[in-house]
Amino acid sequence: MSLQSFMTTQGVIARESRFGAKNYASLPVVLARGSGAHLFDTGGKRYIDMMSAYSAASFGHLHPRLVQALKNQLERLDIASRAFYSDNLGLFCEELAALTGLDACLPMNTGAEAVETAIKAARRHGYDRFSIPEGQAEIIVAEGNFHGRTTTLIGFSSEPSYRRGFGPFAPGFVTVPFGDASALEASIGPNTAAVLIEPIQGEAGIIVPPKGYLASLRRICDRHGILLIFDEVQSGFGRTGKNFCFEHEDALPDGLILGKALGGGLLPVSAFVARRAVMDVFDPGSHGSTFGGNPLAAAVGREAIQVLKDEDLALRSHVLGKTLLGALSAIPHPAIVAVRGKGLWAAVELDASRVCVKEICIAMMRRGVLTRETHDTVIRFAPPLIIDEADLLTAVEVFHDALAETAASLASRP
Ligand SMILES: *Cc1c(COP(=O)(O)O)cnc(C)c1O
Repeated sequence: MSLQSFMTTQGVIARESRFGAKNYASLPVVLARGSGAHLFDTGGKRYIDMMSAYSAASFGHLHPRLVQALKNQLERLDIASRAFYSDNLGLFCEELAALTGLDACLPMNTGAEAVETAIKAARRHGYDRFSIPEGQAEIIVAEGNFHGRTTTLIGFSSEPSYRRGFGPFAPGFVTVPFGDASALEASIGPNTAAVLIEPIQGEAGIIVPPKGYLASLRRICDRHGILLIFDEVQSGFGRTGKNFCFEHEDALPDGLILGKALGGGLLPVSAFVARRAVMDVFDPGSHGSTFGGNPLAAAVGREAIQVLKDEDLALRSHVLGKTLLGALSAIPHPAIVAVRGKGLWAAVELDASRVCVKEICIAMMRRGVLTRETHDTVIRFAPPLIIDEADLLTAVEVFHDALAETAASLASRP
């Protein structure tokens, strides 16, 4: 690192820590530019992006078609509010419904808001359709879940650092172990309105449930007449090797929560997509969002859907995902506890008593690969789906070198 870029880096970090909230512990790299699967720091050094901003940058940074779609819209109409109709929202909803196999969409901005929307839909549907007594609806969720950061959502998180000091929390959620369909079925009661689950748990460490789990959930929900809602904010749009993770099994949900990649890396765009009967619980005044479904968001969302299809990104994710998992699994190192994943979404779980996972991320950063750990034991590999094979294999090699270096330095410590 040159002295000047070192000083810029230190200056930026110091300023952010002086004037910002300290709710992130970022790696000491200051990014100034992005292109495709690459990010560049203020000194011009290039990095391979193995995070994709938690799938928000699944299409790569500044995808030319997405940038063009946004530019075109910027010359026509910015935001008009839902007090009036705008000319591309209906098309956006139609195309998203067609892509998912569901009927109707309610656009929001962030993932958390789309989850909140799903919870509202599930509860009202429970009261109106299942005659659950008012105020008693229950939603079944999984241990280890991550659905966002609102007070309702963290209230049913099992992660103490997400919750501490932020209560009191909303009632109405029942937690069951992830991946255990019988335990979930046993927890269904007369007031159960819905099951809300990530088909693969991302923030928990890319936890892939046993084969058949999603299809079992579909059958269980049908048997008990309750809604099945999948949160695919992170797993959606090709990440797991299908357009949506539920497509790996016969498990079309009643409601689907989307976000992150839907905004093409350019804007926050999210949506709750559902069967017509579920969506119809909303009437004028029951829900809304100032920015939800605005013309810029709809333009970018529509182009994101088109790029996903035109570039066969789900297939690409499937094929390159096999390469990635194969390469990671071939690394012989005693600190590796497990390698898992689906599509271009892989996790290496490490033995935290033998290596420091954050140090490995820093060593990878020095060697030009950016990723972060989750839960102190897992390193994630979730590049933009447009990454080429050479970069992907370079990232794995860099991880291997960083692991060897970090383990050696830990072993030599007194
Ligand atoms: C990131 C994420 C969210 C929250 O999305 P935000 O845009 O950060 O609010 C919800 N669910 C899942 C599965 C996520 O990964």
